[in-house]
Amino acid sequence: MIAQAISDIRRQLPPTTQLVAVSKFHPVEEIMQAYDAGQRIFGESHVQELVNKASQLPDDIQWHFIGHLQTNKVKQLLPHVALIHAVDTSHLLAEINKHSQRIGRSTPCLMEIHIAQEETKYGFTPEEAEAFLAEGTWRQMTGVTLAGIMCMASNVDDEQQIRDEFRRASTLFHRLRETYMTSEAEHAAFCQLSMGMSSDWHIAIAEGATLVRIGTTIFGERVKA
Ligand SMILES: *Cc1c(COP(=O)(O)O)cnc(C)c1O
Repeated sequence: MIAQAISDIRRQLPPTTQLVAVSKFHPVEEIMQAYDAGQRIFGESHVQELVNKASQLPDDIQWHFIGHLQTNKVKQLLPHVALIHAVDTSHLLAEINKHSQRIGRSTPCLMEIHIAQEETKYGFTPEEAEAFLAEGTWRQMTGVTLAGIMCMASNVDDEQQIRDEFRRASTLFHRLRETYMTSEAEHAAFCQLSMGMSSDWHIAIAEGATLVRIGTTIFGERVKA
């Protein structure tokens, strides 16, 4: 079932879009089923859970952290994570930078952008993201690599609204890239538009997502501990 779901999704993804299999709350046995079907990128939203799973599963898995990251968990997460999707404040980015520098690496990070109509505590507004990139101190942060943006659409049934939100994210992504990623290295690194989940990933890929984060469609409903 898991293998089938993965190949069904894969078949529909454009070659420029990668699948993040969101395995939060699902056991390592199920992750191994996905792994055996060729899946290598997995998304988790709790640090302890990601670290536990990483220690039990093959080394060539790329672990993406997709949840809200607390600054006091950064240090524990860093050795295991390939991409942090939801950097929602400059303070968090600075913290990731500090701890990454200490272990001599540069951690790829996406800026979480708040584009949905709904109220949420998390994410830069498009204006804040723009101001942050314009201000330029991120260029001194050798411990982080800005790799693009991540967003979530409103949790609504209105497909047109979801499409509009993803389209705004896509436009913003390209504009930020063209405006602020001025060196060749910056431009090349800032290449990911992470958007789309089980309910809306078809719309997200039509609007240019390069990463889709899909859990329920692959693994079934989550049973929370
Ligand atoms: C859980 C989660 C997903 C996956 O959601 P599904 O509806 O199960 O596909 C995607 N993105 C984020 C940020 C999540 O927390």
